[in-house]
Amino acid sequence: MIVSAYAAPSATEPLAPTTVERRDPGPHDVQIHIEYAGICHSDIHTARSEWGPARYPLVPGHEIAGVVTAVGADVTKFEVGDRVGVGCFVDSCRECAACRAGEEQYCERGMIGTYNAVGRDGEPTQGGYSTHIVVDEKYVCRIPEGIDLAEAAPLLCAGITLYSPLKHWNAGPGKRVAIIGLGGLGHMGVKIAHALGAEVTVLSQSLKKMEDGLRLGADHYYATSDPDTFKTLRGKFDLIVNTVSANLDMHQYFSLLAIDGTLVEVGLPEHPVPVNVFDLCRNRRSFAGSMIGGIAQTQEMLDFCAEHGLGAEIEVIAADRINEAYERVIASDVRYRFVIDTATLPAVAQ
Ligand SMILES: [Zn+2]
Ligand SMILES: [Zn+2]
Repeated sequence: MIVSAYAAPSATEPLAPTTVERRDPGPHDVQIHIEYAGICHSDIHTARSEWGPARYPLVPGHEIAGVVTAVGADVTKFEVGDRVGVGCFVDSCRECAACRAGEEQYCERGMIGTYNAVGRDGEPTQGGYSTHIVVDEKYVCRIPEGIDLAEAAPLLCAGITLYSPLKHWNAGPGKRVAIIGLGGLGHMGVKIAHALGAEVTVLSQSLKKMEDGLRLGADHYYATSDPDTFKTLRGKFDLIVNTVSANLDMHQYFSLLAIDGTLVEVGLPEHPVPVNVFDLCRNRRSFAGSMIGGIAQTQEMLDFCAEHGLGAEIEVIAADRINEAYERVIASDVRYRFVIDTATLPAVAQ
């Protein structure tokens, strides 16, 4: 099926309308009518080949929410009309220890990305800035009733990127959790950590978004540009999740961890991060990283968000504003996620 999409023709040109071909659903595939696709900062890095040379034309988008329009003969999880989501990957080897443990994002042979990868059929994968996608049912999640599809889309990357480490490092009642940065990732971290019952602090460069942070569920809000913040909060946190991709002075942030505290990186800084091991030995601190989550945990996250009435804070845009939205994401001028309404993609001449 030929479907409408927005693609980057090269690393240096703006995204433009185009068409892509989606395979006919195989026995285990579901065909999804995409209604909304979130814009993740990774889309921009990839579209501009900032993380290595990308395959062009490239249709980004790995925060996909839509409705099933067709299912293959052997599909058991989904029916036509189901509300579903697709996140950062659409396949993996299914055999390695990570895949068998439901941690497909750490597949030993490498997960197959939703875009900028090659699928099992040998064709390049193309992402969610498009009206339809065809995905193996194993890599599709159900979006429960009770979450708006547009607000659900960013959960498929931003939501699970925060949910997974918060669960892994036991954020919950009695735990003091700090989220560095209140952006697309950070705002989901605040909502989820709060819903898990943790005491939540936002560490942001300034107090500009303080009102938002408190409304989203933070108990405290501090500006990291104020040197007093690091004195006041010394040794306070059991868990710090860093969503900021800029290089930070880690010594300052490690000093905020309590004994056995962990600082987890989910943003990806451009340059290597220098660490003074002394900071870790003191207080038996850990420095860790985490990347999205497996399919089972992504489903668990969607169910959790539905149960707690959590969606992303979004600004819905028409497809012809994608390039403008990219500039605003880079300038951190979005509260807190752009979501493309795919009904605004140009119709395909049949
Ligand atoms: Zn993403
Ligand atoms: Zn695997």
